[in-house]
Amino acid sequence: MTYIASADRYQHMQYNRCGHSGLMLPAISLGLWHNFGGQDVFENGRAMVRQAFDLGITHFDIANNYGPPPGSAEENFRKILQLDMAPYRDELIISTKAGYEMWPGPYGNFGSRKYLVSSLDQSLTRLGLDYVDIYYHHRPDPNTPIEETMAALDHVVRQGKALYVGLSNYSAEQTAAASKVLKELGTPCLIHQPSYSIIDRWIEHGLQDVLAEEGIGTIGFLPLAQGILTNKYLNGVPSDSRAAGHSVFLSENSITDKHVEVAKALNKLAAERGQSLAQMALAWVLRNGKVTSALIGASRVSQIEENVAALANLSFTDEELATIDQIVET
Ligand code: NDP
Repeated sequence: MTYIASADRYQHMQYNRCGHSGLMLPAISLGLWHNFGGQDVFENGRAMVRQAFDLGITHFDIANNYGPPPGSAEENFRKILQLDMAPYRDELIISTKAGYEMWPGPYGNFGSRKYLVSSLDQSLTRLGLDYVDIYYHHRPDPNTPIEETMAALDHVVRQGKALYVGLSNYSAEQTAAASKVLKELGTPCLIHQPSYSIIDRWIEHGLQDVLAEEGIGTIGFLPLAQGILTNKYLNGVPSDSRAAGHSVFLSENSITDKHVEVAKALNKLAAERGQSLAQMALAWVLRNGKVTSALIGASRVSQIEENVAALANLSFTDEELATIDQIVET
């Protein structure tokens, strides 16, 4: 059936300005790292994108290598665009990235101009798009001069193949250096994409200061620690979870006793707040306005619905924050 977007799709979402830019991003964005590849059920991914958009999620995050197989998430997103979302292209912020291994040989990895420019061309073909809204360098490259990598990002913007550029997984020092070059080139860095959650706070030790000084927005990935910060693993590993599936990034062994203990204690606090643990974990990421968007993944429509409902309560008392710190630290 032809998809018609919900008329009240902008009533559910909060939109935050991304750094010092003109771009607003939804407080919750959807990533296609898992569950959108060639081995996944296409209609499930399609339903998730539709429902996400109906709830005001305008930003969809992809990378050249998402799948598996690599590239298949972009191909599936092209099909979803063609089937459902094409009329809404100007309401969407679509990002892709390059930085990890994508094809054999010395030109399909890391941060050379050769790799970044050709990978974006490949991504645009797979996505069936003329341009992406945000193009990221996916990880720092210790062996390529930062001037070359940033010049490649500036170049694709001038070519009209990307509207904005971003950095992912760069340290505070690397971000400051890259931002300086990008400003000199006239293409300021829009956004940084680091990991961030209740149990992964590395960005609070330097990076957030740099991002504030430079006027760069933040989109935090793994806000639910791949599901550990939900009620999913409280009583064992369900057969339909990521940890029990084929992901090489989360296995049953990754769910430690300590994780379960922490999740149980957090779950109790979340219940006292009238939220699920997933909702409290997302609220915590967004609690102080420093993070522009929490970048979630999902394996089913109901998770997106539950997660967007987190926006109903993003505030914490000092006591609640102290309890969360105590639970994580013990
Ligand atoms: P999350 O921490 O949000 O984990 C998502 C997973 O948690 C879901 O797939 C689902 O797993 C489970 N989940 C989500 N909501 C709920 C809920 N309400 N109740 C119970 N379980 C839930 O993030 P991801 O690991 O998926 O990463 C998100 C995005 O971040 C990626 O798609 C990608 O765009 C980006 N990313 C970027 C990286 C980078 O280097 N720049 C690296 C990694 C990710 P299940 O299958 O078990 O149901």
